[in-house]
Amino acid sequence: MLGAPGAGKGTQAEKISEQLGIPHVSTGDILRAQIKDGTEYGKKAKEYVESGELVPDELIFDIIEDFINSDRARNGFLLDGFPRNIAQAEKLNRMLEKAGAELDKVINIVVDNEEIIQRLSMRRICRDCRQVSIFDQSGDEECGRCGGTLIKRKDDREDVIRQRLEVYDRQTHPLVEYYRNKGILVNIDGTGTMEKVTERIMDSL
Ligand code: AMP
Repeated sequence: MLGAPGAGKGTQAEKISEQLGIPHVSTGDILRAQIKDGTEYGKKAKEYVESGELVPDELIFDIIEDFINSDRARNGFLLDGFPRNIAQAEKLNRMLEKAGAELDKVINIVVDNEEIIQRLSMRRICRDCRQVSIFDQSGDEECGRCGGTLIKRKDDREDVIRQRLEVYDRQTHPLVEYYRNKGILVNIDGTGTMEKVTERIMDSL
């Protein structure tokens, strides 16, 4: 899954992996969990994640390689948040080749910058079940799915959002062209309801 921060990659990855019956991995979720648990790995990643920079590639490669080679990924899988730059894409090619697998499709969720900034500044995540909500003026602070407490991600502050968008434009956006040239890119309109976007993605597959 490709797309700017806030385009809906995580939400859609969850839906698509459910509908296709394949596992997905989110590098962002793994990094946040490690930071929360205060592991050595989390300590190395914290500063980058919280300032909106990409963590060094080497910190990500093992996670992805272990996942691709795991039993649960044997019948297919979905990657959310990886690759994030050309070096990661090239490394992914080598990992897949070694595992005898290949990418079928790259789903690029497209939403314009203005909507992204609005979405991210209002985004809340459930501390317990990780469900994403858009905080509304009603002031509801409880998760609609499990009743857990909603929290704001540290990198969803306006200055960090701008930094993440800049990093996306500079480092991640070139992957759109990269995968278009490989003939596996699908552009998906990421506006409208969550269900509508899922439907568009499923139709494109
Ligand atoms: P995300 O949840 O995908 O928005 O990722 C949150 C943050 O985690 C990013 O801003 C990066 O700091 C870090 N991150 C996630 N995936 C990667 C990756 N593939 N390479 C480097 N940093 C990553």
